[in-house]
This record gives sequence, structure tokens and C-alpha cells, in this order.
Amino acid sequence: MNGKRAAVVTSGCQMNKYESERIAGILVGLGYDMTDDVRTASLVLLNTCSVRDKAEQKVYSQLGHLRWLKRNNPELIVGVCGCVAQQEGERIQERAPHVDLVFGPQNIPKLPALLAEVQTHQRQVSDLADNPLWDEQLFPIRRESPFQAWVTVMQGCDKFCTFCVVPYTRGREQSRPTAAIQREIETLAGQGYREVTLLGQIIDSYGKRSAEGKDLADLLELIHPIEGISRIRFITSHPRHFTEKLMRTVGVLEKVCEYIHLPVQSGSNSILRRMHRGYTREDYLARVERLRTLVPDVAISTDVIIGFPGETDEDFEQTRHLVEAAEFDSMYLFKYSPRPGTKAATFPDQIPDALKSERFQAILELQEAIQLQRNRARVGRCEEVLVEGPSKKGSVQLTGRTRQNRPVNFVGHPSLIGSLVTVKIEKGGVHSLEGQVCAE
Ligand code: SF4
Repeated sequence: MNGKRAAVVTSGCQMNKYESERIAGILVGLGYDMTDDVRTASLVLLNTCSVRDKAEQKVYSQLGHLRWLKRNNPELIVGVCGCVAQQEGERIQERAPHVDLVFGPQNIPKLPALLAEVQTHQRQVSDLADNPLWDEQLFPIRRESPFQAWVTVMQGCDKFCTFCVVPYTRGREQSRPTAAIQREIETLAGQGYREVTLLGQIIDSYGKRSAEGKDLADLLELIHPIEGISRIRFITSHPRHFTEKLMRTVGVLEKVCEYIHLPVQSGSNSILRRMHRGYTREDYLARVERLRTLVPDVAISTDVIIGFPGETDEDFEQTRHLVEAAEFDSMYLFKYSPRPGTKAATFPDQIPDALKSERFQAILELQEAIQLQRNRARVGRCEEVLVEGPSKKGSVQLTGRTRQNRPVNFVGHPSLIGSLVTVKIEKGGVHSLEGQVCAE
């Protein structure tokens, strides 16, 4: 132990949260104690996301706060990683000279060497190089939950959707060998983990370039028998790669939860073309229908971008119709905002903000009505729930998720946290369910 404390401040998606767990594992291995309080830390890393609007400004504003801390504590090491780091690169250190370290998502395994360089040479360090080979972890991951774990099975993306920075910040698609994934999940099972979520930017394209010739369906078959694991999830799927074989596998493997995140982004074929998504609204709706046939009681969530450049009233209506037809169980709704370096940022026909907000509100209201109806339809059912922790609603309330990923609040003893219980649903709201634990 060197008595030093480190804070990792995370923004963005599951992949970032998982990578923060990897970073924390490395830092603990280097003798740091982890803290949530940046004021008491001797090392602060901002793990950034560039998907949301004004992402760079947010990072610079966080860095402004850290500059004050560093003024009082010149020994403080400040680092920026994640997608904004990869995109902005050394510009961050030019604009914020108190930043000691900048590194991209592909360079996390190099963190010990990068930190040593900062400490030994007392100079600014950055590493944004592409790292084409899959790096197995040198340090154990410091996981937030003792019963739910994320397991990366692939990283990067080859799709180059015109609005997205991922292929620029996370490199090309790379799949991890099945044996390494199996080993990691067996270890997790031995440590008492109940649920694993396989992570990948385009997870249903798993194995595309690997010599093993195994796809995601094969991988699910391989890990399914691992004893101790009760639930398997995977995110994020791409509609183009969600094959009939994968649907059938999800439908028959008991531990694979009936929850699929399948981003559609738009319901208009002309916008889908301009987004470079590689499918049509008809393809998408056919997949949803097939999924609902082959995976009984499946819940489908999606991402929708409102106000993509050139989105006409007619395009918007097409999105509205698709949302009505697909009846999603949940949705992540975004207003389009240009991401630097992407093709769509250069499109001339950007949509005014007021119009985006109006359309956003219309889809939000529609989706909330659909969600409410679908959640109310669960009333009276007994649902298997993995208890995650205390609910925000009160001290005797617990919260957990059904197999379909719906949050459920119910009264129960904290000793249930981490176990699977059966909850009888009594109420369905827009965003969650309420119920009571059934007597076994
Ligand atoms: Fe980004 Fe997903 Fe498109 Fe890849 S498929 S470029 S991660 S939106």
C-alpha cells in the first residue's frame, strides 16, 4: 500500500462503466485505495463519453474544477480517458495544461506504464495509439457488484454509421477467444456471481474475423452450462446481424434472458440510408416480429435519434409509425447532435433545435404510453427478480430486475440482495413495476 487514493469519474455507456472497473482493478493492483470523493484523491481519472451533446464542454468544465483542486494539491495527478480522450487527444492537454495523462480506451492495459512515466518524469503523457491485439487483463477487475458482472467479448466497430464516433475512438471489431471468455465466466461463477452480461459494441457480430469460426449463438451455447450462473444477457445488438440462428438460441437456452436491445435509430428508410445503417424499416420490423415468435415473452428496447440532418416531417412520421408498430418495452431517445469528426456533422441540412425538441417530446409521450400499457400488462404475473439493492423509494423497499430487464420495487429484507426471488406484480408504472415477494 502506498496510502494513495484514486477516483475514477465515469460517464456514458455500460462499456465505459466496465472499463472503469478494469481501470480500478489496475489502480488497486498498483496500491491505490479507491474513493468516490475527488477532493481526497491523489489521482483523478475522468472516463469520458462523447455520445451525448456537448460532451467536450462537460469534460472541460469537470477539468476546470480539478484545476482548483490541483492548485491546492500540486501532487494531484489528473487524467482523461475514454472516447473524448481518444477524440480530442493532446488538444486536451493544450487547453488544460494541468492534465497529466490522456489515453484512449484501447490503451487501458498500458496504464501502469503511463502513470510511472508521469510520476518519474513529471511531464504530460498521452497514448492514443490503436492497439490492434486483444489484451487479456493483467490485473483483476474491481467489480462494483458482487453478483452481476460485465464480460467484454468483443470491442470496436466496423460500421461507420454517419453519426457515431465509436469506430474512430474504439477501433475495428475484435473478438475475444471463446476459451478466455469461458475461463472468466467460470471464475466469476466460483466467486458467487449470478448474472453475466456479455458486452460488445456490435455483439451479434461476435467472431466475424476470428479463426475459431464461432458466432455469438455458439458462444452462448458454450457458456450456458457453467454452473452457478443463473442469467446471461448480452448487449448491444445490431439489427443487421441478428440472425435466425441467434434468435432460436436465445429462445431455447434457459439462462439467456428474454431481453434484447436492438437500436433502430430511425423509422425512415431515407434517414436510415443517410445514417449508413444497412437495413430498412421493413427489415427491422420483420426482425422484431420474428424475435417475438421465436423468443416468447421477449422484451425489446431500442435507441432512437430524433432530428438527424435532413429529417423531414414525413421521415419523422415514419419513425412515429415504427415506434407504434414495434411496441418497444423501453427506449433510449436522443436528440441528434453533431459529433466532431463524423460524416453527419458535415451534412448541410441540420434541423433547428426547437423542431428537434418538439419531435422528441412527441415520441417520448408515445413511448411512455406504450411502456405504461406493456408494464400494466405484467400485473398479476409472478416474475423472477434478481435483487440488486435497496430501492430509492424507502428503506424497506428493495429493487431488482426481471428477466426482461424491467425494474421492480418491492418490500423485502436486505438479506435477499443478490438472490433470485419471485415477485407477484401488483402495479405497473411507466418506468418500473411494483409487487410483493411470493411465498415459495
Ligand atoms: Fe456506432 Fe453502433 Fe453504428 Fe458502430 S453500429 S458505428 S457503434 S452506432
